[in-house]
This record gives sequence, structure tokens and C-alpha cells, in this order.
Amino acid sequence: MSLPTLDDLDGVKGAKVLARLDLNVPVKGGEVMDATRITAALPTLRWLLDRADVVAACSHLGKAKGAPDPAFSLEPVAAALSRALDRPVQFVADCLDGAAAEAAPGTLLLLENLRFYPGEKANDPDFAKRLAAPYTHYVNDAFGTAHRAHASVVGVPALYGPAKKAAGFLMGSEVASLGRVVNDPEQPFVAVVGGAKVSTKTAPLEALVKKVSSLLIGGGMANTFFLAKGLEIGRSLVEEDMVATARNVLAAAAERGVEVMLPDDVVVTDSIDDPRHIDVVNPDAVASDRMIVDMGPQTRERYSHVLSTARTVFWNGPMGVFEVDRFAAGTLAVAEALAASSAFSVVGGGESVMAIRRAGVVDSIDHVSTGGGASLQFITGDEMPALVALEA
Ligand code: ADP
Ligand code: MG
Repeated sequence: MSLPTLDDLDGVKGAKVLARLDLNVPVKGGEVMDATRITAALPTLRWLLDRADVVAACSHLGKAKGAPDPAFSLEPVAAALSRALDRPVQFVADCLDGAAAEAAPGTLLLLENLRFYPGEKANDPDFAKRLAAPYTHYVNDAFGTAHRAHASVVGVPALYGPAKKAAGFLMGSEVASLGRVVNDPEQPFVAVVGGAKVSTKTAPLEALVKKVSSLLIGGGMANTFFLAKGLEIGRSLVEEDMVATARNVLAAAAERGVEVMLPDDVVVTDSIDDPRHIDVVNPDAVASDRMIVDMGPQTRERYSHVLSTARTVFWNGPMGVFEVDRFAAGTLAVAEALAASSAFSVVGGGESVMAIRRAGVVDSIDHVSTGGGASLQFITGDEMPALVALEA
């Protein structure tokens, strides 16, 4: 794969650039609650602002349904972006407004939410054409939407020839780091998979089992595997229709000599919010009125040891209900083991990233992926429409 980079752009001096960013930040009462994604977009924006005449940043935000909705306006992001860059940002209240055509050199525009038009998600060619009209160049730095065939990441780049479109720095580092994990992992390659959204992880799990030397399962994902092995897991969170996937993964692993590890001690409780009983038991001894919410101390130690011997690690999905302090030990142990290891480490997934932040180990991880769904699709090896569109 050869993704065009910013340096491959031809004629950026004096250009009008449309920059597709991931500025999908949480907003509450007109304030940006977490500016991580804004910060992540700055290197590419600064690079473009140093060279181009006009830069128009665009993004989606929240669950806008194809029509204007003030709850999902990017206007608060304009203020936050202006503070972060210490320069004016001109907010454009309609992403199809041709303001860029008349903007003075040196202007940074932020276009209103792309998903205020149904054409964005539908990848409507007419919407793409109108969106792209004022711009000579196109840059995509929105890795989080790279797995979606939406207009701003597929239809728009299709309108630009080679050297007129490129991936930004963030996109480049995502693809390089995740690419190293999927295409060229140094062995032993250990994957740690947990979390709750088990059904979204079938394909990545089936792909990972073909590449890793060990698969460490935890969190809600482990419950499905326990069920597949015929254990009774009480009131634990489980997706029963995932049992077949778990069996397939176990069979594929056995065939390839891949070690699949499941917790051999688990933390069980009667209630997450108001527990009266918390015990550590073997997974075959979970009472019918209890649920598994974390892995036990023995498993923490065993998983940490395996991680200490790894050369490559990919982690997605917390090992327990880590949002509750008393059920966070398994997740924090994995975070710390990753931080201590010299392996090339990549973490993806919304909650997993929160967990490594909580553990205070972000700086010891080689790559923290900003795109949950996108990173899983990349790991699966499926085609990423936005990357294909940049390369074409
Ligand atoms: P990610 O966002 O990292 O991909 P998921 O969205 O799949 O991860 O799952 C994250 C959630 O999984 C967390 O909110 C955590 O509380 C929950 N979770 C992990 N283990 C369990 C468990 N044993 N029972 C219930 N929920 C769990
Ligand atoms: Mg999640």
C-alpha cells in the first residue's frame, strides 16, 4: 500500500485545501469536553497553514441525521480550534457554502457538520462535487471514518488526481503502526481482546488468530468463550449468538498451534453498582445469581507474564468493568504490562484507550489508535474505502 503523504502534494503553495479531519469531539452546553481529537489534527493543519492560501477543515460530529441540528453543530469546535492554534478560525455555517472561493489568503475555515446533508453518508456524487468545488487540493486525516464509504472520504478524493490529494500525518501514522501489526508483526505477537461489543469483534478475532502466537481473552469476550466451553456463567454479560464464533476461533487456534488463554480465576459480584458480595472464583464455579466483572489475581499475573515476553502486542477491549474502580484491576494490569514491555504495542478501541489513559501509561504505548471501528477493520485486513480513494 502506498498512501500519498503531504510531501507528495504538488503545488500546495497558494492552494485552497479541503482537509477532512476527525473533529467528532464530545460537546456539552456549547463546550468541547475532550479536545484529544482537535489536538491530534493540529500537526497536519499547521503544515497546511504554513503553505496553502486557504485551508477549509471539515468533519462530522455526533449522530446528525442528514439535516441541520444545533445539538451537533461544529461551531464550538471552531472556538476550541482557534484557541489551540492561536489564530482566527472562520466558521462556515453550511459546508456547501462556497466561502473558500472568496476567502483571503491565510484564512482557516471550519465547515459545519458534513452530516447535516444526507449526501455525506450516501456518498452522493452531486454532494461530493459541490463540497469539493472551491478547492484545488484534498487532504484526509480522519482515520476514524476511513472504513466508511462516505462522500467526504470517498466521493471527494475521487475528484482529485494524483499529487492533488494526500493522507495527513495522523492518517499516516495510523496506517504505518496498524500496518506493522497486520503485515509484519515481529513474533511473539500477542493479541489481547476483551470488551463488551463482542459481535463487532468476530472478524478481527478470526483474522488475529491467523497471525498471533498467543491470544489473551478477557472482559465480556471471555464470557462467550466460557459458554462455548460449556461453563455456566450466571448473569454475566454474554452474546449467545457469538458462541459459534468462539468455537471457530478455538478450532482455528488449535489447528495452528496458537495458544488461546482464558482467565482461570474471575471476579464475580451480585451487582456492579451496589455490590454486597465480591469474590474470586474459578470460572467453573460462577453461581447462577453472580456475574463475572473482572479477571482475578492469578490471571493478571499470567497475562502480564505472557505480555512481558511479546515482541508485538495489539490490545482491544478492557478486561473487566474498569469504569468501576474495584473491577479495574485486570484492565490496569494489562495496561501496566504493556507499558513495561519492550514490544511494539498498539492499542485501539474507545474504552481501551480510556483505560490506558486512566492507567497513566499513554506515553509508554507505541501507538494509540484514534479510530475504534476503523482500527478493527484495518486489523481484519478488510479494504478501507477512504484509503483506496486516496491511492487511486
Ligand atoms: P472498546 O471500546 O475498547 O472497543 P468495548 O466497547 O467492546 O471496548 O467494551 C468496553 C466495555 O466493556 C467497557 O465499558 C467495560 O465496562 C465493558 N466490560 C468489560 N468486561 C466486562 C464484563 N465482564 N462484564 C460487563 N461489561 C464488561
Ligand atoms: Mg467501546
